Amino acid sequence: MPPNDEMPQSSADPPGLYLHVPFCRTKCPYCGFYSTTDTTLISPWLEALAEEISLLRDGEKALKKSGQGPGVRDQGSLWPPHPFDTLYLGGGTPSLLPDRELTAIFDLIQRHFRFTGAAEVTLEANPDDVTPEKLLLWRALGVNRLSLGVQTLSEAELRFLGRRHSAGQAREALATARKAGYDNLGIDLMYALPGQTEAGWLATLDEILAFQPEHLSCYQLSIEAGTPLAKLSACNKMKPVDEDRQRALFLHTSEYLESHGYIHYEISNFARGEAYAARHNSKYWRHTPYLGLGPAAHSFNGRERRWNLAGVKEYCEALAQGGMPVAGREVLTQEQLRLEILCLGFRTRQGVSLQALKPFPQAVRTLAQYCQAGLLVVEQGRARPTRQGFLVADSLSLMLSE
Ligand code: SF4
Repeated sequence: MPPNDEMPQSSADPPGLYLHVPFCRTKCPYCGFYSTTDTTLISPWLEALAEEISLLRDGEKALKKSGQGPGVRDQGSLWPPHPFDTLYLGGGTPSLLPDRELTAIFDLIQRHFRFTGAAEVTLEANPDDVTPEKLLLWRALGVNRLSLGVQTLSEAELRFLGRRHSAGQAREALATARKAGYDNLGIDLMYALPGQTEAGWLATLDEILAFQPEHLSCYQLSIEAGTPLAKLSACNKMKPVDEDRQRALFLHTSEYLESHGYIHYEISNFARGEAYAARHNSKYWRHTPYLGLGPAAHSFNGRERRWNLAGVKEYCEALAQGGMPVAGREVLTQEQLRLEILCLGFRTRQGVSLQALKPFPQAVRTLAQYCQAGLLVVEQGRARPTRQGFLVADSLSLMLSE
């Protein structure tokens, strides 16, 4: 539904449910996501998770009693209108969870949340956790989409990234998942690594394409503040790839994958057909409500965004004391919502509706210039970024909204 001039609307798609699993076996030196290697916290985390869900339910009951009902967005409800059509277990490393705990999580979720019949259920997995037995269990629990953190098929690059798995394990995991009947595989890859040649990156891509993955996420290595990699970079022990080269690699990756039948539908994401665009992650870009559970998880109900305490201990303590583990919240103004629709929209091939650009006089004046410069095309009432436009997606929304 296109936004109107008075009140920007979030997408009317069903909401998504996200669960953050904050555990990793080891920390990769480039990773800025919150996770801990202390797996003795799995059990208290699981108890706290049950408590978080129970408090959310109580809050919703209180809203219902006061006549506000589920999905009331302006009054602060975080329980979006049911049913959800996606469940995403991300992290951290969800695939490291022992069978008993993972089964308990699915039981808990199925008891408290309703899903549409054909919900997309994604589990993030590291290749070294993938075994035929695990794959069977995940399928039995309802997982129908596997997101595998392969990163690269070069042993030297895997070592640089501090990954636990070998290229051989990644190949084995992909083959085993296919053999087990997984027909919606997403693969995460990283490029623009120091010392990586273009030929090396294309060799990884070629080998990955032989598995015909339904989805590819190709991320450029970024230096996240506070990580060991950032420290190496700060003392010149690691030289990041320069911006010109990053841009060239981005364009080449996009051309290469599109020539192999993939749709470049978001800056870092490629799908082997519209049906395989990641339904859950698309909610973030389309401004669709989502509920996030667990440490560091974010939620959005159409107007308000909240985020949980990041530390597992802090998260558990807040819940043990009967409080919600919320670290912060912001209620977006109409102006902020309009800007977000632009920022997020220009990250995707879908772009932004011309209706959503109307409140920005500068956009109306300069749209033609951006089209002439080859950064945008206007089609079917939408301004869509081109491949070149993706390179400047963040500044596009700022330039058009000035
Ligand atoms: S396994 Fe994933 S989440 Fe864990 S530290 Fe490595 S990159 Fe980060």
